[in-house]
Amino acid sequence: MSRSVVWLALAVLGSAMTPVTAMGQSPVPLWIEGASKAPILTTDRTLLASLNRIAARSALWRHAVEAVGRRGRRALVLTPEEVAVSDTPHGAPIDSFDPTVLAEVAPVPHADSQVSVVLVVVNLPLIEAAHRRNRSLPGEFEADLDRIMVHEVFGHALPYLLVGDLSGRCADPLPGQRPTDACSIRRENAVRAELRLGRRTGYGLQGLALLRSRWP
Ligand SMILES: [Zn+2]
Repeated sequence: MSRSVVWLALAVLGSAMTPVTAMGQSPVPLWIEGASKAPILTTDRTLLASLNRIAARSALWRHAVEAVGRRGRRALVLTPEEVAVSDTPHGAPIDSFDPTVLAEVAPVPHADSQVSVVLVVVNLPLIEAAHRRNRSLPGEFEADLDRIMVHEVFGHALPYLLVGDLSGRCADPLPGQRPTDACSIRRENAVRAELRLGRRTGYGLQGLALLRSRWP
């Protein structure tokens, strides 16, 4: 039985969520009227800043987000405390988000397998703690966060939302497959090239600054 991330706070959609502008302008204020229409929503300012950094510099990202917006679908980018885990997509919460997991993408399918909402959970506390341990520079933290967001949002979430059903799944490398041939890594690397965030060649976390110790 697979465990699914479920969103606990449905009521906040449209009030507390912050729309991320497709064109990468400055973040719009929290609590904005009509926020529920935006294709990517988040309540977290650090995640919002990352989404806007990426949108400002990636045409691929902007085009995909605009296309999702035209279809009336959306991604919700959440922190672990905003979600709970259940056994089924709409089941009762049985656990909190695993604190050791870096990020997770969960499409929310209707009974007919159509998908109009995808949840993206980014374990910001885990990423921040790793960078604190490494005494990273702020730019190193931001670059890692942007890499993770590009992989999860552009690599996994937007493909579901562009297609509008579960067939939009963009997979991580299969056993024996070259990582750079996997759907999610190919998409990630296309946007990384625009952002000059390096090219990902493996499926592990080697490409992230958070695993490099500043004081060996
Ligand atoms: Zn992945």
